[in-house]
Amino acid sequence: MSPPAILQDPVSPTVPSKKLNLPHSSAVPVGGQTKTETIEAMAGDWQSFTFRPIRESQVSRAMTRRYFSDLDKYAESDVVIIGAGSCGLSAAYCLAKARPDLKIAIIEASVSPGGGAWLGGQLFSAMVMRKPADAFLREIGVEYEEDGDDSNYVVVKHAALFTSTLLSKVLQFPNVKLFNATAVEDLITRPREDGTIQIAGVVTNWTLSCMDPNTINAPVIISTTGHDGPFGAFSVKRLVSMQAIKCLGGMRGLDMNTAEDAIVKGTREIVPGLIVGGMELSEVDGANRMGPTFGAMALSGVKAAEEVVRVFEQRQKECAAFY
Ligand SMILES: Cc1cc2nc3c(=O)[nH]c(=O)nc-3n(C[C@H](O)[C@H](O)[C@H](O)COP(=O)(O)OP(=O)(O)OC[C@H]3O[C@@H](n4cnc5c(N)ncnc54)[C@H](O)[C@@H]3O)c2cc1C
Repeated sequence: MSPPAILQDPVSPTVPSKKLNLPHSSAVPVGGQTKTETIEAMAGDWQSFTFRPIRESQVSRAMTRRYFSDLDKYAESDVVIIGAGSCGLSAAYCLAKARPDLKIAIIEASVSPGGGAWLGGQLFSAMVMRKPADAFLREIGVEYEEDGDDSNYVVVKHAALFTSTLLSKVLQFPNVKLFNATAVEDLITRPREDGTIQIAGVVTNWTLSCMDPNTINAPVIISTTGHDGPFGAFSVKRLVSMQAIKCLGGMRGLDMNTAEDAIVKGTREIVPGLIVGGMELSEVDGANRMGPTFGAMALSGVKAAEEVVRVFEQRQKECAAFY
């Protein structure tokens, strides 16, 4: 199978000149005919400019038809990723690339995907990644600078460049659907013969809704909801309350060197059907926090995708045996 277009070499952005020299044009169908329009032609002629007419209901139908069709299509997903932070998005990218045959739903509670990775630390713009996570930046085509005498880390000029690039790549995969403004409010479980449980899907709700929830069945879930706080560590806290794991280890104090290795190495299937990565994992393992360095989030996503590939067929078979 040929690789998806998204995996081809990244295109450098065009810097517009003062004369708005924007050579890209698009062919748009107009009343059965195709008319080629360019931004450059428009920019020189605002007096005669007008948008094409539209009836308001067309806008509604264009959105709702697609959304409800996606709800129907992804009610049975292959993999659900909870949380579209740096770890969840990295996992989605690697999994969608490695397994174009899998239907991947991403559920993000916030309207804006990206989690905590829109800034580096405090309100600073730059994002630090310790090597060898620079490999992930090259993979998605994000430029960076080498920094420091020892060359042990690289710096992306703005964390938002990393997050927006990764997000745009993930959204272009045909086998990925992001449901944002949608929270996971419970896990679907099935009893195993040994008396333990298996995770077999998620219970979702529009973040601003208090109505009865919706559901998505999937044999494998990746949970990357971040560290504990008003919203974070959702799945692992739920595992404790349903007695699937004894207790949480609690995120420990900041130690960048210890923390990043521990999160990547520890990314794994915690109970059958549920893989946990990113800062959510620090709550399970009692790992250190790492603060504003993001290499572990990207590589934990890579490992989470690898874990899915390892267990998927087995979990799919087991789930098929339940109703
Ligand atoms: C305020 C703040 C505090 C930080 N504190 C720390 C720290 O203490 N230690 C540290 O190492 N780094 C911290 N960071 C740095 C860094 O942002 C995180 O380490 C990193 O973003 C974690 O990535 P992640 O993908 O694991 O989770 P996040 O970037 O937190 O992403 C988790 C995503 O999951 C979504 N989500 C949560 N619950 C649900 C749910 N039930 N359903 C659907 N979606 C859900 C959230 O909306 C979010 O988008 C902090 C950043 C910020 C902005």
